[in-house]
Amino acid sequence: MTDKDDVPIKKMAELLRRGATMLAQSCPQCGSPILKIQDDLYCASCDRRIVVVSSDQDAESTAVKTMLPKLRETLVRKLQSLNAIIESENDPDELTKLANLMVLLLQALHRLENINGD
Ligand SMILES: [Zn+2]
Repeated sequence: MTDKDDVPIKKMAELLRRGATMLAQSCPQCGSPILKIQDDLYCASCDRRIVVVSSDQDAESTAVKTMLPKLRETLVRKLQSLNAIIESENDPDELTKLANLMVLLLQALHRLENINGD
């Protein structure tokens, strides 16, 4: 059977057409991309459902969510002190480092807002 390997791909394509999404995660068994079908994770190559410890994940994301206001506060405070440092800094190298750091902090802040949004 030369086209044996096509089967999971066809199946995967079919599932994607029906609204499944492909995750960045790969199957722990075979390394194929995992598909998310509604709330189920599925590997087309192994033809089986991937069991994730969803309760742990939920607990984790809940914990993260409760931390969000504090994280945001910390980031804002860091940005404020960074701003003060940048204001008094005149060395171009230092300013570059500080500006990079500021961008990172702003990105982190932006991500936090996105997490909170859903
Ligand atoms: Zn698999």
